[in-house]
Amino acid sequence: MASTAGGHARICLGCWDQMKMPIPIRGPLAIPFRAFGITRSKMNPNICTICERSFRRIKGKQHITATATILFADIRGYTHLSDRIDPAVLGEIVSTFQDQCAQSIWAHDGIVNKQMGDGLMAIFNFPIRIERHAAAAIGAAIDIQRRCAEVLERLGSSSGELPDKAIGVGVGIHSGEVEIGEFSSFRSDFTAIGGTVNLTSRLESQAAAGEILVSAEVAAAAPDLVGDAVSRSFTLKGIDQPVSAYALRTHA
Ligand SMILES: [Zn+2]
Repeated sequence: MASTAGGHARICLGCWDQMKMPIPIRGPLAIPFRAFGITRSKMNPNICTICERSFRRIKGKQHITATATILFADIRGYTHLSDRIDPAVLGEIVSTFQDQCAQSIWAHDGIVNKQMGDGLMAIFNFPIRIERHAAAAIGAAIDIQRRCAEVLERLGSSSGELPDKAIGVGVGIHSGEVEIGEFSSFRSDFTAIGGTVNLTSRLESQAAAGEILVSAEVAAAAPDLVGDAVSRSFTLKGIDQPVSAYALRTHA
């Protein structure tokens, strides 16, 4: 495993873990690569744009089945908020949220795969391999909650026009098999799809502000981080069986 756990890698950790190929992304050796458009990925500054755009070249096929941990996060009450505050303040809240989430995810070797305004999706264990990917995602979620609680509350109170309740973030995490690769014929970026991804998204939609909801699979893979959290049963839209999940609370 080439991981530097969020530090500054000199070679692409994804290309190294997936192909044992050293692609320079920092320092003088990276300069000729830049001429060919190979730079650091926006999904994680320790991977390169080959990882991001050339999945088929790396894996020899358009998509593969892999085990990964998926994390969804979003700003709770965003719609309510967006109707009531100045668009410029809203923009600052969203960009602060996205920045803080990305820093937290990168510190645990995940990639920010999709950003959707007030929400995002992250993948752990691809392309950077992480032995304890469920634990890495929980670590990132704890960082997200801690960082966002600090900065969003400060932003909210300084704007002076926030409604009664403070802004909070909800997070959902689930592990399992995903289909990962390129699924569009006109865009070359890669993502993960499948039941694991859907369930994570549904789980996240049930998370209260300040809450991290982790599935039973994630809890079993990282019991040390779940501690004595009590499991709850959720009926999720589009999912037949009730799903049990553990709510980790990081702040009041
Ligand atoms: Zn790469």
